[in-house]
Amino acid sequence: MAYRNGQRLPLDEGGSGPTLRLSVNPRARRLSVRIDARAGEAVVIAPTERGLVQAVAFARSKSVWISERLAVRSKGRPLQPGQVISLRGKPVRLEATPGAGAARLVEEGTVIRSGGEGEAYARRVENLLKREARDTLLARTDVHLRALGQGPVKMSIADTRSRWGSCSPHNRTIRYSWRVIMAPPPVIDYLAAHEVAHLVHADHSPAYWSVVERLVGDHKPWRKWLKDHGAALHAVGR
Ligand SMILES: [Zn+2]
Repeated sequence: MAYRNGQRLPLDEGGSGPTLRLSVNPRARRLSVRIDARAGEAVVIAPTERGLVQAVAFARSKSVWISERLAVRSKGRPLQPGQVISLRGKPVRLEATPGAGAARLVEEGTVIRSGGEGEAYARRVENLLKREARDTLLARTDVHLRALGQGPVKMSIADTRSRWGSCSPHNRTIRYSWRVIMAPPPVIDYLAAHEVAHLVHADHSPAYWSVVERLVGDHKPWRKWLKDHGAALHAVGR
């Protein structure tokens, strides 16, 4: 397959998702991807036209990153058909179906299909994401509670502006942001471990972190992941 300078194509091979613009720049030393916020597109740059094949493959390998960056730049845009979001760290395309049916996860988890228009569409998709978040976080919370010999807690799902979770050891309640369901599974698991470990130590002391480490091993990569991607996940659909 040959590509040419200036060509536009869908980022996802399935034929949807954000637009990718191909650009040849003889002075470029290597392949690169940048976000054109004004155009709402990703631009992939290669030194030669022949290099575009590799450049497209490179951009597609970064599709989650690109979708997240574009989502941050388009703040205030409600969830809508054609958008690509991530679910458990994997890209999922939003599609519309006629009628007012609830959102469903289809095609082996690569597509969310929902009825409704405008706000109603966005709400249905968000409700699905909240249900997915609740199921996964309940399961992971349970695993960590048992590992620490802890009794049950009351768990709730919220949509906080910036926090990922909170734990009140006194009331034995844990709250999570549903938005963490967009993160890769080890990050979701780390968040559950983080809140459950607060039942043992309410602070962030070295003793606390050693409990977290007992539950998930080295937690630094997952904390860094949340730091790097947090703003993007908190911006989705807002
Ligand atoms: Zn904490």
